[in-house]
Amino acid sequence: MKNNLLLIFFLALNFSCQATQAQTVDTMQSVPGGVAIIDLETEEKPNVFFSNKQVMVIGSPGQWQAIVGLPLWAKPGNHELILKSGINTTTKQFTIFEKQYEEQYITIKNTEMVNPSSSNLERIRDESGIINQAKAARTELAEVPLQLDLPVSGRISSPFGLRRFFNNQPRNPHSGLDIAAPEGTPINSAASGKVVNTGAYYFNGNTVFVEHGQGLITMYCHLSEILVEEGQQVSRGEILGKVGQTGRVTAAHLHWGVILNTVSVDPTMFLNNEE
Ligand SMILES: [Zn+2]
Repeated sequence: MKNNLLLIFFLALNFSCQATQAQTVDTMQSVPGGVAIIDLETEEKPNVFFSNKQVMVIGSPGQWQAIVGLPLWAKPGNHELILKSGINTTTKQFTIFEKQYEEQYITIKNTEMVNPSSSNLERIRDESGIINQAKAARTELAEVPLQLDLPVSGRISSPFGLRRFFNNQPRNPHSGLDIAAPEGTPINSAASGKVVNTGAYYFNGNTVFVEHGQGLITMYCHLSEILVEEGQQVSRGEILGKVGQTGRVTAAHLHWGVILNTVSVDPTMFLNNEE
């Protein structure tokens, strides 16, 4: 009896410590474009890798969890994490489940945005190097804000993961969430973090990248105006810029991306459902 009471007490204590994390965990799914939460069952905190990229690890001794971003092109089935602790290397298996995403057909009047000329292709190639670097930003933070706020309030005009066709030609799937809002609407940082890159890019238009710790990055695209600078520390809700229609767009909106271990994942998995 005494043991049972002790156990209940322990579980209650444990639950209250992890309540905020558990909320987020509930919304996450191990699917292509999703986030896998994997119990590591190690006493010491290991460095964990998926597809050669270091992944986020949160928790406490004996209760470490890997929070793994899964690319949209990931194959459903069994996958493996590499755990490194000192000189020891072990593996941990996990499963990615299937998910079907809808198709979307978009008509773009400016054909340079669908079939760019060779000089623009060169610019796009140069920019993708810079963008990939921004997506690989990573600082070691023990406390990572896994709960993100929607950066602007507005109608979701296009969800994450749609298989896209521009003027009937297949292109990369939709890597973020589109929120329709009037031009000039302030954009609030989804959580506290550091501005790791700002730039004016061909497809993404005026863009801001914020890193929140351990490779969790939010990306804000098509801005009319950028109001922060690279290297700047921002707090949750701080204004980063304004909604616009720069880059490849059909109307003013915010394209909001969430990146984890360099891959774009579904931003809705980080939103608090109770809002
Ligand atoms: Zn978008």
